[in-house]
Formats: sequence, C-alpha cells, structure tokens
Amino acid sequence: MSGRSYCVVGGGISGLVAAYRLRMLAGADAVITVFDPADRLGGILRTERLCGQPMDIGAEAFVVRRPEVPALLAELGLAGRQITTTGVRPTIFSQGRIHPLPPDTVNGIPTSASSVTGLVDDATIAQMAAEPHRPMYWRAGSDPSVGEVVADRFGEQVVARSVDPMLSGVYAGSAATIGIRSAVPTVAAALDAGATSLTDACRRALPTGSRGPVFGAIEGGYQVLLDELVRRSRLQWVQASVARIESDGPGWIVGDDDGGQWRADGVILAVPAPRLAPLVGEIAPGAAAAAAGIPVASAAVLAMAVPGGTPLPPQSGVLVASGERLHAKAITLSTRKWGARGNVELLRMSFGRFGDQLARATSDGDLHSWAVDDLKSVFGITVDPVDVLVHRWLDAMPQYGPGHAGLAAELRAGLPASLAIAGNYLDGIGVPACLSVAGKAAQRVVAATTRS
Ligand SMILES: Cc1cc2nc3c(=O)[nH]c(=O)nc-3n(C[C@H](O)[C@H](O)[C@H](O)COP(=O)(O)OP(=O)(O)OC[C@H]3O[C@@H](n4cnc5c(N)ncnc54)[C@H](O)[C@@H]3O)c2cc1C
Repeated sequence: MSGRSYCVVGGGISGLVAAYRLRMLAGADAVITVFDPADRLGGILRTERLCGQPMDIGAEAFVVRRPEVPALLAELGLAGRQITTTGVRPTIFSQGRIHPLPPDTVNGIPTSASSVTGLVDDATIAQMAAEPHRPMYWRAGSDPSVGEVVADRFGEQVVARSVDPMLSGVYAGSAATIGIRSAVPTVAAALDAGATSLTDACRRALPTGSRGPVFGAIEGGYQVLLDELVRRSRLQWVQASVARIESDGPGWIVGDDDGGQWRADGVILAVPAPRLAPLVGEIAPGAAAAAAGIPVASAAVLAMAVPGGTPLPPQSGVLVASGERLHAKAITLSTRKWGARGNVELLRMSFGRFGDQLARATSDGDLHSWAVDDLKSVFGITVDPVDVLVHRWLDAMPQYGPGHAGLAAELRAGLPASLAIAGNYLDGIGVPACLSVAGKAAQRVVAATTRS
C-alpha cells in the first residue's frame, strides 16, 4: 500500500502484535521499527529453560473463553500448539490448610453460600444466605472497589479467602485496590440492569454453557508465538530505549537514548503506563497525567525444577488467602497443571502484592529459602531443587482501581490520530486484552497515515 514508516515503542506482546498488524494493514513495503532495550523481545512474555524444559516465567496462560489468543494462534498456523490444562483443580490456602477452589464464582465472588462452605465461618454463611433478602443500594454506572461491595454484602472473610486470592493472582492487587467494573464487569452490568442483590447479580453474570477448561497455554511456551510474530511482521529491532518523541510536520521524530533519530509517519507507544507519561508529556499533557495516575505493582517469580517422583499433590496449584503466614501469594504446580515434561517436576512461586516491596527488595537467596519453607508449610514436603531461576517484574502490573475506565478514556483523548497507545493498562491486564488493544492501535495509525 505505502512504503510508509512506523515506529513501535516497546517490544512486549502489545508492541509485537501492533507490529504484526501494521504489516498486515500497511503492506509489504512499509518499514516497521520496534524499539526495546531489553535483552530479548517479548516483555512479560518470557520463556526460559529449566533442566532443558521450556517454562514461561512471566505470563504462562491465557483465558480461552476470550477469542483473541486462539484466533491469533490459528491465523499464524499455530493452532496445533494450543494446549489446555490436564484437569487437575486449583486450591486455596486459608487458615493454614488447603481448600478446594470454590465452584461457581465470578472471579472469586460466590453465587451461593454453599460454594464457600468450609472456607468461611458459620456467621459468614448465614450472612450470605440472608443477602438476597437485604435491600441493595446501587448507583448505576458507579465503580466502587470489589472489596467494598463484597465485604458489605457477604462479609470480610469472603473478601480475604475467595476474592483476594484471585485478584492477587491477576493484578498482584487486592479487592481493596481493584474497581468492581474492571474485576467483574458482568457483575457491575447486572447491578446496573437492576439485579436486586449481589447474589442475584453474580448468578446473572456466571458464564453459562461449556464447563471446559478456563485456561490455555502454548506448547513450547509463549516464545513460539513471539517468534512467529517477529518473523511475520518483518520488523527491525532497535535495542534501545526511546527517550523522546517530537512532531515533525505530519509525522514524528523518535529519539532513542543512544542518540539515534528515526522519522516515522505513525507511532504506536506500547510501553508500560509509568514509561508513557514522560514520552507524551509535551504532546498530550492530559494523557501523560492520566498515565501517571495509574498505580503499579511488582511481582517476583521463582521457577524451580525438582526431581521427578517428588510427591507433589494432584493439584494445579494454590492461591493464598490474605493474611496467611506464607511469603508466596501463589504456587503453580506447572507439570501437574499442563502435563509431564521430561523427568522433572516444574513449579513456579509468585511473590509480591501491590504496596509491598517483596519483589524489589528481597534477595534471590531469601526468595529461594522462602519458596522451600512455603512448600513445606503448604504440602508438608521438603523439596530438593535441581534448577532454580528468579525473575522480577518491577512496576509491571497496573492496578485497575475504581474509576479506571475514566482514566483510560482520558489517556486516549487528545492523542493525535497518527500516534496510538497500546498496553496492559488500558482495557484489561491479560494477554487477550493486550492483543485486542494493539490491533485497534494499528488500525488507527494506518488509517491516519494513509488518508488521501
Ligand atoms: C508475573 C506475571 C504473570 C502474568 N500472568 C499472566 C497470565 O498467565 N495470563 C495473562 O493473560 N496475563 C498474565 N500477565 C499479564 C500479561 O503478561 C501482561 O499484562 C502483558 O504481557 C503485558 O504486555 P505489554 O506488551 O503490554 O507490556 P510489557 O510486556 O511490559 O512490554 C513493554 C515493553 O516496553 C519496553 N519499554 C519500556 N520503556 C521503553 C522505552 N522508553 N523505549 C522502548 N521500550 C520500552 C520494556 O522493555 C518492555 O519490553 C502476567 C503478568 C505478570 C507480571
């Protein structure tokens, strides 16, 4: 179509999908340059090898009920690489012991008292049973924190033992920091539509139909997808940080921190929210201010291989309730969850929640000792790792606080049409949402740069 040039700033999944979509839309002769200073492309999608086995140490899965990732894999000829969980169940560690993950919840919010029996006390069960009969005051369009609503209707124990473990896994946040409209949009919509109680709203919001697996992953790890996106987009990678962007007539000058200057007809900024603000401060001060207003959390992942035959339980892992005397917030028994790999068992332990300094300030040695101690406390086994790897994801997880949708709208308003943004802080933190946002960013920029 064009021979035009595009710069994509940030080479995580958002940037790579943007580059691939730019190639599809702008044609074979477009020049597509991706900037990222990291040692490899992919950002939070990072596949390492432990004892020779591939293992994702950032994101490891995707929600299969959303269409984006399966559709992209199919489009790239990788549908055969999609795998699902083995069927073993996740659990919750609460009050010092393991419980089954409550069935029939919407992101941890139960649809009935019976689903949390054994996890919460009798007084909480009675409060939940009575909840449908209590008047519900709800202002349509409002966005309180999930914790505020669930604590009021079902009690604090449901927050700490069912909702927090889910939200600390997804956002490294808690029910107190995440808005109901982001965490459980279908529940908020049901309340807007006149649900008479939280129980009623959750029942209306509970997905119907297939009870198939919730999560999928990629055989060989996310690296397989990244490699294909890089190959098909025929991008050129500049391994540097972008320090500034200036308008240049109808286009842009992108300046990297090695002193390089790059001219582009269109630019897609696919950096994390805290990195966006300084780049757009002069071009779009409102967007910069909104980006700076999104809090972020950090997480550390410790991946571990232990000898095959280590007596791990037949579970996919453990989500940890708030207030437990453990360091980890989640333990994934990867080879139980996704299937056997060689003669080792692979595990990953996640540390760090919004507001704490665990991921930033704890040494690798301490994380290692905590992991071994936590596995003893939870499963009663002493592991003898044969391979261990630690990776820190600093300021990587945006908090979708109350009113987040308004911030996202402010972020987008005022950006010139040939400059688009993509990333996990806009319409959802998961990989599927990143794909959707990146595709729209590419469409917008190509439309703006090919108008006659
Ligand atoms: C530990 C962890 C586990 C997760 N698990 C899952 C999961 O199982 N499933 C799921 O769906 N989601 C999961 N997520 C969320 C998901 O992985 C991320 O939201 C998603 O990968 C973010 O992609 P991104 O491209 O928007 O950002 P990033 O991956 O953060 O990429 C941004 C890139 O921008 C680069 N950059 C920054 N500043 C500049 C600059 N000035 N110039 C150039 N480049 C710059 C960075 O180096 C980085 O590579 C997880 C997140 C974490 C942290």
